[in-house]
This record gives sequence, structure tokens and C-alpha cells, in this order.
Amino acid sequence: MDVNDSRSTAPPRPLPQRVIAAKRDGHALSRPMIEDFVAGLVDGRWSDSQAAALAMAIVLRGMDAAETVALTAAMTHSGEVLDWRAAGFDGPVLDKHSTGGVGDKVSLMLAPIVAAAGADAGVIVPMVSGRGLGHTGGTLDKLEALPGFTVELPRERLHVTLRGAGCAIVGASAAFAPADRRLYAIRDVTATVESIALVTASILSKKLAAGLDALVLDVKTGSGAFMADRAQAQALAASLVRVAAGAGLKARALLTDMNQVLGWSAGNALEVCEAIDFLTGAAREPRLAEVTATLASELLCLGGVARDLAQAQKRIDAALASGEAALRFERMVAAQGGPRDALRLPRLAAAPVVCDVPAPRSGWLAGADLREVGLAIVALGGGRSRPGAAVDPRVGLDRVQPLGTALRAGDPVARLHAADEASARAAVAAVQAALTIADASPALQAPIVGRVELP
Ligand code: URA
Repeated sequence: MDVNDSRSTAPPRPLPQRVIAAKRDGHALSRPMIEDFVAGLVDGRWSDSQAAALAMAIVLRGMDAAETVALTAAMTHSGEVLDWRAAGFDGPVLDKHSTGGVGDKVSLMLAPIVAAAGADAGVIVPMVSGRGLGHTGGTLDKLEALPGFTVELPRERLHVTLRGAGCAIVGASAAFAPADRRLYAIRDVTATVESIALVTASILSKKLAAGLDALVLDVKTGSGAFMADRAQAQALAASLVRVAAGAGLKARALLTDMNQVLGWSAGNALEVCEAIDFLTGAAREPRLAEVTATLASELLCLGGVARDLAQAQKRIDAALASGEAALRFERMVAAQGGPRDALRLPRLAAAPVVCDVPAPRSGWLAGADLREVGLAIVALGGGRSRPGAAVDPRVGLDRVQPLGTALRAGDPVARLHAADEASARAAVAAVQAALTIADASPALQAPIVGRVELP
């Protein structure tokens, strides 16, 4: 039907500039306005600048519960919604999602661990992930550090991957949550990530379109999180769990600490190497191990695979000790076009410049402005400053020392990987400036700081 046809009975479309102005002036958007925005993202009627302007107005003015639900529903139905039973998968369909952090590589391990730990119950983990966003890294960018790995799988290949490995990690596609795909890329480069409504709709639209049975959410809090403030993170967790439940998806959230790099590395290829070491048992950083195992345990319980957290932990320990989780990672990588021997790869893409980040003074490593550390990695080329730009998989940090480490001036706080000397020098200075070194040993934050579920 042609909307410009005077005989048409369809209501007129709201003009984008009217919708933007309504939110700019602090009004709640109607469902038709929200639906038109989402449709316009998909069919191109809304330009990048209009979408960015509305996103900024939402960041500044917020959205109420009804608007958030409407935005989530419209984005979920902007493409296909998967039906696993129709495709012949009978077991629980499980997933986890993080609100984003620096060095957060949990998905790379959790997907194969949960697939292995729930294999006897027919569990599948069809994980729909994102790219780097703002100062945070993205699971898809990390996996693409593996030569040949593709995050865009046609349906048949997705099914084959899930049948072989029990898990797959893919991106929102042209067919699947396409509104998030476009809005996500715009938000990444327009400082419009930090909104409870936008994060809720972005995450849940992908997860609801993926046809999940249960979802565990890792809501980050601290200097490297989008919701740095604990109360804001708690509000985001509550929004995610409430909107998910309203849409019929069982969900639970953990609040986890993002005041320090999670694990020993931050940067795409470096994080894949750390994840492989974790899965094979070569090395497991304790905070990363605790966050990964706790999220996986919650998910196995929520999905009905384990009776309680202790039983879930036993399954996880067995999946790691037997090598089954590592094997499933290797099978997933091969099925998605990556190397066939991912567990035995020599180090991935090495950066031409590798140098230490020396401690600027003696004392205890007491804190880090992780947003600045994340932005330093973006500036090295590990993230984007334009939508769709390529990222450099080689750059970032490894050997990152944990908070509480006693240092002498000049001791390495981390090792930096860069494409050239000039960017290395700038990044060393940026990371040093982000550190707090104190004269006394700091009080340390536990990696898991809270849990949110529906009463
Ligand atoms: N992860 C997402 O998928 N979307 C957001 O907006 C933030 C984190």
C-alpha cells in the first residue's frame, strides 16, 4: 500500500524530526512512533544522523517501562524470530549476555562449557553477540581474530555447527534483529550507549529473536562498564530481567565488577589466546574463572539442567577436566570457517611493536580508569571510530597485573601490543595515566557483587 496515496487508510507516518523533538523535549514516545523508528532503521527511511539524534535524546531523557518494552518488542520483530523446535532441536536453548567490559572474554569459554556440561540434556547455545561498543570489546571482533572465522552463518550452517559443537557464536544479521545491527553501529561511534532503555532493547531484542529458553545476564559495574555506578547497574539488571520476563524469557542477572581488566588480557587476538589457554587448562586467571563458572552455573540451573549451583559446578568441572569444553570450542571454530586446530595454534597475529607499560611510581596498584584503558585500545586500532571500520586484531594488552599488586617504579603493569611505535607510545602514556598507584595496599572488590532475579 502506498502511504502517499490519498486513498490509503494507513495512519500517516510520524516524521522522524517530530519523534526526535518529542524525546528531546522529555515526552514519552507512543508505540507507533517507536515502531516507525525501528522500521525506519531497517528500511533506511531514518538516516544515521536522525537515528543518532534520537539515540542521544533517549540517553539524555530516558525511556519509561512502557517505551522500553515497545522498543524491545519492535526490535525483536524487526527480523526473523528463530524456532528451534521446528528445526529439530529439543533440548534447552541457553545463552548469556554481558553489558560489555574491558577484557571480558567470558562468552568465548562459557558457550562451549555450557554446551559440554549440558550435552546429555540436549543443550544448545546459539549465542548472538555484538561487536566492540564504545570503549568495550566485542565477542564477534575477538573471534574474527581467528583467520577465516565467520560470524554470519546461513541457517543451515548454523544448525550444522550447533549439532556438531552444541554452540555457535554469530552476529545479528540482515535477517535477524537487523534494527539492532544498524543502531548498535551508530551508537558505537556517537557516545550513545549509556542508556538503560537502549541497552535493554539492544540485548534483549537479539536474545528474544534467538528463541531462547533461558538467559543469564552479566551486568558490569565499575569504571569500565557502561553503567559505572552500582545503582545504575542494578537498575539496568532489573530492567533486563523484568523486560525479559514480560516477553516470556526466563532470565537472571549477576552484577560483576568491571574496575579492572577481566583476566590477563584486553584486545581481540590476545583475548582469544587467553580463552584457549583457559579451556585447555594451560592458565586460568582466578577472577575470570569465578565469573565464568558462576554465570555458567546460574544458566545451567535456570535452564533446568542442574538442580542447584553445586551440581552445576560439578558438571562444569567435568566439562573442563575431560577436555570436552575445549573440544567443542575447537569444533565450533572449525564449523564457522576458522582453523581446524584452534587449540594448538601458534600465537595468533603478532603485533609488530610489543613493549611493557612501566609503573610510573612505586606502591600498590590500587585502581584503574578502565574506560580510559578501553579507549586506549580503541585508539591503537582495536576498536572503531567510524561505523563499519576494520579493527586491528593484533593490538591490546596482556600480562595485565591485578589490582593489589605491589610494584616498584618501572615494574611492568602490563605488556602492550601495537601496530607502530607512535601509537605504542601514546597508549603507554594513556594506560599509565589511567592507573592509580597508592602508598597502601587497597581494599579489593570481589568479582561478583550482586544477583538480580524476579521475586
Ligand atoms: N551489549 C549489547 O548487545 N548492546 C548494548 O547496548 C550494550 C551491550
